[in-house]
Amino acid sequence: MTDFADQVAQLCLEKYMKLGKNGKPSEKEWTVLSGIVLKKSNGSLSLVALATGTKCLGEIDLINTELYEEGCRLSDSHAEVLARRAFLRYLYEQLDLSFGGAKSDVFVINNEKKIKLIDGISFHFFTSQTPCGDCSIFLKEEFSENDEPLTKIRKCDYTDKGQTIIGLNNDNEEKEIMKDIYRTGAKCVKFEKFQDAHLPGVNYHVIGPLRTKPGRGNPTLSLSCSDKMAKWNILGVQGSLLSILIPPIKMETIVVGGNSPFSLEAMERGLYKRFNEKAYNLNIVQSKLSFKQQKNYERKHPCPTSIIWCAVRNRNTEIAVEGRKQGATKKKKGRNLLVTRRAFFETFLRICDKYQNFKCDIRHPKKITYLDYKKWSKDYQNLWSVLKSKSFHAWPSKPIRLQTFVL
Ligand SMILES: [Zn+2]
Repeated sequence: MTDFADQVAQLCLEKYMKLGKNGKPSEKEWTVLSGIVLKKSNGSLSLVALATGTKCLGEIDLINTELYEEGCRLSDSHAEVLARRAFLRYLYEQLDLSFGGAKSDVFVINNEKKIKLIDGISFHFFTSQTPCGDCSIFLKEEFSENDEPLTKIRKCDYTDKGQTIIGLNNDNEEKEIMKDIYRTGAKCVKFEKFQDAHLPGVNYHVIGPLRTKPGRGNPTLSLSCSDKMAKWNILGVQGSLLSILIPPIKMETIVVGGNSPFSLEAMERGLYKRFNEKAYNLNIVQSKLSFKQQKNYERKHPCPTSIIWCAVRNRNTEIAVEGRKQGATKKKKGRNLLVTRRAFFETFLRICDKYQNFKCDIRHPKKITYLDYKKWSKDYQNLWSVLKSKSFHAWPSKPIRLQTFVL
């Protein structure tokens, strides 16, 4: 498994090296690298999506943006989230290929004109460091003599009766409390019943709650990568719009880069156990290979730019800053990133138009909004409602106006 993890990591690291300087961190800056690798049934591996990024817009930035720029601006630019967006762009192109009669590496159309995933393929996710949020909270020294952790971090557990807290460390356990944990800058969502105590040592955090992305000042509406990846693990990474056309796509492996604090227990907890969900076939593993541009003593500042790459034919590399294409001006043609909600909505409608006889019983007279379309993905929306009524109840909704744009 470690060999496989290194192969996945290597594909991402090699591609990163081959990309131009533009968008990469300076010597004093750090970033995160994430990517998605396709494994074909013959065992061959290829990189299909890659991204870097550390930033996230605050709520105020979004509200002050005129009409939210009609789905043109990204609020979350963490590498994990951008790699998924790059992957969506790749999937749309693969879909277009298979509809058009060309050979796709991902999709096949069966006799009933339904879109299926090609038998035997799988997808594997790499990220150069442990995802922000719940997965990042664990003890610095994990094992006792009996291999049982001596100290427990306070745990918020989702049960049918709501949340309960387990394993509170009291004052008599002074020695235990002094043990330290790795911390995350991600703050508990304000609607969560339990919040971090910010006490010394192991009582600094509570584990379990949903968290918003780290960042100083201006609070954000975007959830931590641990939470988003947990959602992808249950619903698939394809999101609601693509769910109208294709079956759910789930990652089979999550590889975390070497030289990053890592705990398998915290990863499993952060990605599914805290929600009492099963992992299906998910493998989580740390690679030996590491990303040289990650945070360290010399690289103290987060890199503000992002690189977004995917295995498509045109404009396969994009540089983003503050959720927009770098150097974009209002007058310039092609000023928008190709991984925004708006870009996906356009591609989606174009594909539906072009291949009407295949699936879409959906028509699209103008003035039907992006949000309306998302509602057509019934299975996806139903499952999400069930999750939101249980363990994901504190998941904040994005301002509705972010999604009510038309083309
Ligand atoms: Zn993150």
